[in-house]
Amino acid sequence: MRSPNGPEGSPPASQVEDYLVFGEFGEVNPSISDGSTFTFLDPEKLKAIFHGPVPGCHLYSRLDSPSTQVLAHALALLEEMPAGHVTASGMAAIACTLFNFCTQGTEIVSDRLVYGGTYALLKNFLPRLGIRTRFVDFTDPDQVRKVLTPKTRVLYCESLSNPLLRAPDLSQMAEIAHGIGARLVVDNTFAPLLFTPRRQGADVVIHSLTKFINGMSDCVAGVITADESVIRELSDASSGASMLLGPALDSTRAASIFKNLHTLPVRLLQHGKNAQALADRLAEAGIRVSYPGRPDYPDRAVWQRQADPRMGHGGMMTIDLGEESRAQALMLALQAKRVGLLAVSLGYYRTLFSPPGSSTSSEIPEADRAATGLGPGLIRFSVGLDFDLERTWGRFAACLRTVGAIAS
Ligand SMILES: *Cc1c(COP(=O)(O)O)cnc(C)c1O
Repeated sequence: MRSPNGPEGSPPASQVEDYLVFGEFGEVNPSISDGSTFTFLDPEKLKAIFHGPVPGCHLYSRLDSPSTQVLAHALALLEEMPAGHVTASGMAAIACTLFNFCTQGTEIVSDRLVYGGTYALLKNFLPRLGIRTRFVDFTDPDQVRKVLTPKTRVLYCESLSNPLLRAPDLSQMAEIAHGIGARLVVDNTFAPLLFTPRRQGADVVIHSLTKFINGMSDCVAGVITADESVIRELSDASSGASMLLGPALDSTRAASIFKNLHTLPVRLLQHGKNAQALADRLAEAGIRVSYPGRPDYPDRAVWQRQADPRMGHGGMMTIDLGEESRAQALMLALQAKRVGLLAVSLGYYRTLFSPPGSSTSSEIPEADRAATGLGPGLIRFSVGLDFDLERTWGRFAACLRTVGAIAS
């Protein structure tokens, strides 16, 4: 299901560039909406908006505002989706989407390696509402097929999984989902512009805007992109999960994220350039490194089919030092040498690193972590926008020598 804008055609970044919205007085940026509620000149329109969108009218900022709508529209363009809805966090986008498709007694099939918060939502919270999740390895489609039941409503995965950077074959997943009338929901947070999961048939594409899309680590936000009908269901005044649970993004934040979105392509290329250089140096120095731009990347074939070759290989990589104590020593050394910051999250202009086994992925059972290679010595890096990578590598290598990870 390749769109006319496949890797050979116009990249989604160009669609976002062409989307021009001026401010009320001709400002080059859209005006920032400054109201929780909106006046109506016609009571009939107020009546009508409770039953569906009315062009040119807004009801209440818990649902949307001109500012959140502009951001949602730009992100729908980014994902080549017909519509979008922004939320106050990535988790809100995920939760609202799952509430929209799943009711008591239904089931979700999820990749076993997903963001820790998502895993906890599926594993610990949704069962309270009678929604069960089966976790399997999405890089093995047979495992997915085996656990489908007539109650399965959603197949859920990340385009580039956290933290091990595996890339499931999304075309196969879409085919499996659609074969039983379920939806494929893809979290594309790690790989905006690299992957456009709609092209492989994803029904819903979610982002935590908190990460690469905003890129400033100054707020949390999320988006759901999908068909018009799904977005309408989510924002329905009397039954929509997003409207009724209320995770609304503030207009001032929506406006700042909209501006940052426009530098995403240049940032992503620089993140990718730096990550590739660091991954190559680390591998040459004998460190176990995982990066989609390395020749030993296990999902190379899927990557080559699905990823836009113009966008590089992204800013995320992992290294494995075997032991937790050595990983901890390295992170402290890297922070002291200003290579980056020991912090969760990603997509920031500085390098961030954290040990997923004991932090963001600690929700995932030990046995699953061991089976997938998520060991105690693993460090996840979100590589920053450093101007002088030679300087960065010099410092990095010094830290590796200090902790005995490479010979001095
Ligand atoms: C951070 C993250 C989330 C959650 O997003 P928040 O904005 O923190 O709520 C979901 N999925 C992935 C892959 C993430 O990295």
